[in-house]
Amino acid sequence: VNEVEAAPSEARERHAELAELIEEANWRYYVLDSPTVADAEYDTWMREITALEERYPDLRTPDSPTQKVGAPVSSEFAPVAHLQRMESLDNAFSQDELAAWQARAERLIEADPGPYLCELKIDGLAVALVYEKGRLVRGATRGDGRSGDDVTPNIRTLRDVPQRLTGDDVPDLVEVRGEVFLPVEGFKKLNEQLMDEGKPPFANPRNSAAGSLRQKDPRITAQRPLRLIVHGVGKWEGAEPPRTQSEMYDRLRSFGLPVSDRYRVVRSPEEIHDFIEHYREHRHDPEYEIDGVVVKIDRIPLQRQLGSTSRAPRWAIAFKYPPEEVTTKLLDIQVGV
Ligand code: NAD
Repeated sequence: VNEVEAAPSEARERHAELAELIEEANWRYYVLDSPTVADAEYDTWMREITALEERYPDLRTPDSPTQKVGAPVSSEFAPVAHLQRMESLDNAFSQDELAAWQARAERLIEADPGPYLCELKIDGLAVALVYEKGRLVRGATRGDGRSGDDVTPNIRTLRDVPQRLTGDDVPDLVEVRGEVFLPVEGFKKLNEQLMDEGKPPFANPRNSAAGSLRQKDPRITAQRPLRLIVHGVGKWEGAEPPRTQSEMYDRLRSFGLPVSDRYRVVRSPEEIHDFIEHYREHRHDPEYEIDGVVVKIDRIPLQRQLGSTSRAPRWAIAFKYPPEEVTTKLLDIQVGV
């Protein structure tokens, strides 16, 4: 029997210190849209705190940052409960970590988890759009995963967002998840404009998208060239649900929703590797910033079987690319709304 060792005081102190740093960074990033540390540094804190909790499980309390998604919603908008919890993604930083994820999925379902759908990890902000009888009734940010900010009037200003879905197999109720982003060009222009007006620029496209969407006045949001790409669904009622992630994308596209073409369904670890390497080299081909590749198990019944941990699905993983110099440098400029 493996004795679980209680954390010694140095580990406990370091854990508390990291938790505080992370909570503070979360607040600046998710609530103020104005981070003061680079993502890569934040990620090293998360890895260190995760490793501490693996070594000393008594440190993994329900209020640990490793058990949570995002940050509580801000008071500027009405909170809105998601019909189904919105999650984050676990990360892999190497081929070994990716292989460990696959092996774990295989062990849990006792079968080959393939095929896999590989796609880009868009560096934007997660939103949920609710369509009732094909009509857009609500748009919300992810918030802490259970409830988000109600940004319906702002979401309605995006030209990619249909007010009504089209087709004869539209579900009675569907919660569509996606990423709102500012194309890199739009981000640069917006920062030039803000600086001309004597206002502080945004640190990166992700923060500019979050700041632009979460405006009190939707007329300001309407002036920002925000885009949307959808990459998942939550609740789905009243129509035959898709059986695979790729079929889901075909259906969402047929409803008039914006789906990326930059995905591929593959079988082998080599093909996943090729996709990752292709976009490592062609990272700037898309009009938006990416920070990695997302690998998803394509078959939805297997996704259900695997389920989720307290913060992320077991059927998907984000392979993160190393940060680019420029993003870190941009953080040196003063950032703001
Ligand atoms: P995440 O951004 O690593 O991944 C989860 C999100 O990816 C999902 O919510 C989803 O909306 C999005 N996503 C993009 N493309 C997707 C696709 N194709 N399929 C599925 N989902 C896709 O996790 P997170 O919880 O949103 O944020 C954590 C990350 O945010 C950290 O790793 C760090 O990089 C950054 N962060 C930075 C600071 C800071 O102070 N610099 C603070 C907090 C968080």
